[in-house]
Amino acid sequence: MPLISGNSSQNHQNSVNLNHGNHISSKKLCIVQQRKSLPIASVEGRLVEEVRKNDTLIIVGETGSGKTTQLPQYLFNAGFCCDGKVIGITQPRRVAAVTVAKRVAEECDVQLGQEVGFAIRFEDVTSSSTRIKYMTDGLLLREALLDPTLSRYRVVIVDEAHERTVHTDVLLGLLKKVQGLRSNQHNLKKDDISSLVKFDYGGWSSNALKPCQNMKLNPLKLIIMSASLDAKVFSEFFGGAKAVHVQGRQHPVDILYTYNPEPDYIDATLITIFQIHLDEGPGDILAFLTGQEEIESVDRLVHERLKQLPEGNRNILTIPMYSSLPSEQQLNVFRPAPSGFRKIILSTNIAETSVTIPGVKYVVDPGLVKARSYNPATGLEALIIIPISKAQALQRSGRAGREGPGKCFRLYPESEFGKLVNSTVPEIKRCSLSSVVLQLKALGIDDIIGFDFMEKPSRMAIVKSIEQLYLLGALTDDYKLSDPIGFQMARFPLDPIYSKALILSGEFRCLEEMLIVVAMLSVETIFYSPREKLEEARTVWKRFSSPDGDHVMLVRIFRAAAEFMEKIRAESSKAKKIDKSLHKWCRENFINCRSLKHSLEVHSQIRKQLLQMGLSFSSCEEDMLQFRRCLTASFFLNAAVKQADGSYRAMASGQIVQIHPSSVLFRTKPECIVFNELIRTNQNYVRNVTRVDLLWLPELAPQYYATEN
Ligand code: ADP
Ligand code: MG
Repeated sequence: MPLISGNSSQNHQNSVNLNHGNHISSKKLCIVQQRKSLPIASVEGRLVEEVRKNDTLIIVGETGSGKTTQLPQYLFNAGFCCDGKVIGITQPRRVAAVTVAKRVAEECDVQLGQEVGFAIRFEDVTSSSTRIKYMTDGLLLREALLDPTLSRYRVVIVDEAHERTVHTDVLLGLLKKVQGLRSNQHNLKKDDISSLVKFDYGGWSSNALKPCQNMKLNPLKLIIMSASLDAKVFSEFFGGAKAVHVQGRQHPVDILYTYNPEPDYIDATLITIFQIHLDEGPGDILAFLTGQEEIESVDRLVHERLKQLPEGNRNILTIPMYSSLPSEQQLNVFRPAPSGFRKIILSTNIAETSVTIPGVKYVVDPGLVKARSYNPATGLEALIIIPISKAQALQRSGRAGREGPGKCFRLYPESEFGKLVNSTVPEIKRCSLSSVVLQLKALGIDDIIGFDFMEKPSRMAIVKSIEQLYLLGALTDDYKLSDPIGFQMARFPLDPIYSKALILSGEFRCLEEMLIVVAMLSVETIFYSPREKLEEARTVWKRFSSPDGDHVMLVRIFRAAAEFMEKIRAESSKAKKIDKSLHKWCRENFINCRSLKHSLEVHSQIRKQLLQMGLSFSSCEEDMLQFRRCLTASFFLNAAVKQADGSYRAMASGQIVQIHPSSVLFRTKPECIVFNELIRTNQNYVRNVTRVDLLWLPELAPQYYATEN
């Protein structure tokens, strides 16, 4: 692989600004200087040249070298958008798409949504002038439904490709196909643009999705960016595409291990954080945790233990970082701590590569990650906490050496490191494929097994997902997308089970309730449950609880919050005041305010889409029987029956599961339940559970239960 390294004489453009001719203030000067000091800046000219020469290029570079923020600007300035075409950059995570777009808009000195914009599920901040567009990989896949040749894009940059999310993998297969179509534009068959007609999105993603009239297409430039050294697999997939390496700056990092395995990694994390704070020199700490709930609980525990320290040692600032963090809080992570304070960033694996946080000198790595795991035999997907791979461990420790020598504290013995797998298994091999299959079918790709996947998922997993989609009514007897159900389902950016539930709930006259459930299930947890006040919290939650189960409870919480919001809005129209009152309400009710806000947002977005699709809104009011029947008809694949010992047997898989202690049905244990989520720890737990009648299953899901059971 050719190495592109510093001091290149071809660096002909040293200051770039989309908004030419503006005066440069001191803040802008600072940005210009920071941009110039990035490792990638010295090879701008050579990178642009490589992109000109190669239709497909793989760029490998250390995290923090400037790939994500700079390359699109270089290409823009080199004239890649001169005919009004767009440079699209995909990210596996929403947070990264949003924060990076904001940063780049600032660097270019333009208003976000103008020349530089972003689009993520339910949020499109672009306009007709947008030329640099950051988005999630899932979103670009959905755009392909409307515009199968991605005709508005001149360049597509697939960023963080090494993460190998299921969307990235499918996207790479699709982009390969699109490249073929575009270099071969005269042969553009009618079939290839047929889905343009079928998918009238009714503007749900506004300007970004109008089919492009201009059928004269340049070849699509494709750039794959990756942090670790996985360039070979990408190059092979794209017929030996050229790979270049951008050298980053990496200072030495001391790696420290524990002598013995840690029985409680949360506690070990806390102890290590305080050890660093008290014993080590200045520098921020980055600790890797597995999810929102864990991050929030560690956040609280840090502050609790902080009180035990002498006053002079309490200068700590904690900053959470995870995917569903509201966007105004995402940028906090980039703000330097007030002078004399130490920043402690508590992050999921987002901070491994997606988001580069300045100031970090110490990394705390318990060596775990939350991952999807799918068993095609049972058809059930679960979230589990598993050890990271060696590549991830190296990536994490690298975060400590960005600005100077650093230290990484691995909370496991060195012998354990040797046992880690080399690299993470691509997600496509360990998740349910229903959503992918539905999208591919909607793109007119019927032969799923024959699709050019970067890494083929198992045949069994594909077959299982086709079977599931068939049972949900999305596919016809000959496995084509059904009209209208299948097409409608493909329009929702949701798990097919939830899309079906929404479509079905119209028949049961409880669309309002189902919409709330879907919105509330889009967050990790809606509850705020501090360990030390759990009893008090449980007492408070009783006012929302229902003997019918967790779904009804979610509806009640949502309605109580909505009612409260309405009341305070009537009293005041000041956003700050409303926000403050909502926080207070959440605290009193032990509800996680960040999650609630996210749910409210998702609710209003899906609602908009449902309106556009012309579905009629209905509510079953207090008729919970009707609602539970609808839940049964929707989630019949996740039904379970009580066993003699109080455990449950999942009907579809035969798997033995327990009701999670957080469920309102944990104690009552009804005969038959439907559930939404399987969590595997030392046991199989199901969460979000509703009691149903066993006899409803053959009645409401005869396609599944009448024949087999
Ligand atoms: P790469 O993609 O190679 O990992 P990036 O382009 O993401 O690198 O980041 C380059 C630099 O820009 C990093 O030092 C990072 O800290 C900084 N940066 C990125 N986003 C922001 C932001 N929102 N605010 C301040 N600095 C940022
Ligand atoms: Mg990057």
